[in-house]
Amino acid sequence: MNRRTILRALAFGFIQCGISRGVLAQQLIHTSYNLPDIHDDYIKDYLHKMINFDKPHQDDMYIPDQTYNIFTSIVMRLRRLQQFVGHGNFQMLSFDDGLRFASTYHQVEPFTKAETRLMEMIFYSQAEQYGFFSKKPLTELTARIKKEDVERAPHSNIILYKGIPMETFNRLKKQIGDQLILTSGVRGIMKQFLLFLNKAYNNNGNLSLASRSLAPPGYSYHGIGDFDIGQTGLGAANFSRIFARTEVFKRLNAFGYITFRYPDKNMLGVRFEPWHIRVTA
Ligand SMILES: [Zn+2]
Repeated sequence: MNRRTILRALAFGFIQCGISRGVLAQQLIHTSYNLPDIHDDYIKDYLHKMINFDKPHQDDMYIPDQTYNIFTSIVMRLRRLQQFVGHGNFQMLSFDDGLRFASTYHQVEPFTKAETRLMEMIFYSQAEQYGFFSKKPLTELTARIKKEDVERAPHSNIILYKGIPMETFNRLKKQIGDQLILTSGVRGIMKQFLLFLNKAYNNNGNLSLASRSLAPPGYSYHGIGDFDIGQTGLGAANFSRIFARTEVFKRLNAFGYITFRYPDKNMLGVRFEPWHIRVTA
């Protein structure tokens, strides 16, 4: 397999021509006509990639071969950690508490130095190199969710930030009714590590593919207030384009005051997520 390494991409990737794809994407948004062919090709290729977000693409970046074993052991340890501390607690777990829990319990065993180093490297890498251009709301690996800032949503096990996120959800629930359900709320750094790396693990270490549907750790707005909603009875399809055809989505869209973090044809390197409510700026 032709794996591209993070270092190689940093040194020789698309930054080499002096313009990042993020800047290019910005330019493309503000340029409506007379684009050179190369731009048309870029957009066409980009949109095709976003529609087929779960398939590998020729420019995708992978975990390098030399760190693949460490990467695998991180994923396995994070899975055990989640199982051990429970899904609810794991949602909120900080990086430091995760390390502490892992070292306390023999079922999990401590993260090795090589593992924490790779996690640090992944956290502090620019996700732009994967093709992910959204901002990074949590810039510190050790960021914590304060218990006093969050609470359980009514009739749910899902945690939301107090204030605007909870008020927004309650308003939506009141306007749309029982058909609307909360599917994901607050997520800490460790949870985002597991989601992102697990997705990459299930796809041969493809970090770019993972970032098209799961934000890398630090880059998820679930860390500061966004949440996901769905329609009752739709199950896993709530996290697919099918949700955009539901009654809940249509009514949500008609309100006008709701915005989506990753709209259709966004230039952020993220698939269309009609279920992800943008709460924070
Ligand atoms: Zn989401």
